[in-house]
Amino acid sequence: MPEQSICGEHFPLTGLQRDLLQQVRALGIQKFAPRAAQYDRDATFPFENYADLRAAGLLGVCVPSAYGGLGADYPTYMLLAAEMGRHCGATALTFNMHVCSTLWSGLLADDLEMTAEERAQHEANRRVHFARIVDGGALYAQPFSEGSAAAAGKAPFGTTARKVDGGWLVNGKKIFASLSGAADYYGVLCTEDRPDASMRDTLYIAVPGNAPGFSIVGDWDPLGMRGTVSRTLLMKDIFVADDAQLMPRGVYFQAASRWPHMFFTLAPTYMGIAQAACDFTVSYLRGEAPNTPPVKRRMYPTKQIAVAEMHIKLEQTRALFLRAISDARVDPGKEARLRVYAAQYTVMENANELCRLAIRTCGGQAMLKSLPLERLYRDSRCGALMLPWTAELCLDRLGREALYEPGETDEGVQP
Ligand SMILES: Cc1cc2nc3c(=O)[nH]c(=O)nc-3n(C[C@H](O)[C@H](O)[C@H](O)COP(=O)(O)OP(=O)(O)OC[C@H]3O[C@@H](n4cnc5c(N)ncnc54)[C@H](O)[C@@H]3O)c2cc1C
Repeated sequence: MPEQSICGEHFPLTGLQRDLLQQVRALGIQKFAPRAAQYDRDATFPFENYADLRAAGLLGVCVPSAYGGLGADYPTYMLLAAEMGRHCGATALTFNMHVCSTLWSGLLADDLEMTAEERAQHEANRRVHFARIVDGGALYAQPFSEGSAAAAGKAPFGTTARKVDGGWLVNGKKIFASLSGAADYYGVLCTEDRPDASMRDTLYIAVPGNAPGFSIVGDWDPLGMRGTVSRTLLMKDIFVADDAQLMPRGVYFQAASRWPHMFFTLAPTYMGIAQAACDFTVSYLRGEAPNTPPVKRRMYPTKQIAVAEMHIKLEQTRALFLRAISDARVDPGKEARLRVYAAQYTVMENANELCRLAIRTCGGQAMLKSLPLERLYRDSRCGALMLPWTAELCLDRLGREALYEPGETDEGVQP
């Protein structure tokens, strides 16, 4: 087992962080990494990995301890997720979708404004969801993409929920829903079905995978992250009870604007992939990579330079990743907001760049399907495409928010 954790040798860790990192590293090396090639080849969901995560109590990692979970905070989760991504990208990415349902309705919601009545109702609702996870081992997915401008945060979701007696009637379609068919519940982002509804009226509602009116369609045969099984969901007049609400009315909109680091949770998977590409390169050039002949290639100066360049890029990426994690809080300042866009962009782009450099440096034999590098390369390509913070949209936000203060326009200004 490699000695060094994903966050480096001397990074100060709490006791819980050290324990969880060790646990995930052991699972990753002994279980997830050896299974990753088969899930990738077959484009099937890593059910065995989830059985291990469930048995280890990790499905409730971010469920607050008052509700029986492990009570991990945001930085702890981010470190653990990066370690998981180092061993199986598809497991880490899907785990993120599940964990976010607990992180958003748990720790984040505690920071947001609600009336006393809303807070009491939220406490009661999340008790139901957390118990399903902690006691029943339930798995939650997080479908928000719809193929419109909604998932980019630029328009209301087209999926709707209409208030009816005792609950909600949900209708709509979601694309790229990771864990489709594997999740017990789907945390659907949707718009309240009423006149003049806007993005402020976004609701976050858990729809059971076995509800009448729920179906999964389309095939799944993508370039990378094949084990996520991210198919299309159709929802037709699905009734869910009031306690299906994972956040009160209006609170998701508040979270998205006041707790921006909530969207940075997609990055650790790719931080882990970046680390894995570098780990592989070193062991391959040393003639120590499993399933390869013991041929050393480390003595060539060009290889040494390439490894040095990779190392620099990895450390730059990790430094920004760790810094952005430590900034996460409600209402971060402008500097922290800009930094987290820069961090998301850097992690997603550099993960792919490091995989590209790893293939060029290690050479042809290293990209055979019998080795993990070509899977890392394909998986890493997906990072920059993840909404709402694709690499393009990070540039877009970074440029605009660096140049304009909130509410500023150029109206009336002569060019
Ligand atoms: C492996 C994988 C797993 C996924 N899992 C999930 C999941 O579990 N849940 C989920 O909700 N989604 C998931 N997604 C979906 C992902 O977040 C994106 O929604 C999806 O890749 C969008 O694809 P698209 O072609 O529809 O993007 P489009 O909306 O067509 O956008 C294409 C590109 O244009 C840019 N763009 C989009 N809107 C704007 C705008 N308004 N202004 C400027 N530029 C814009 C963005 O850079 C974007 O990448 C997953 C995707 C992948 C690849």
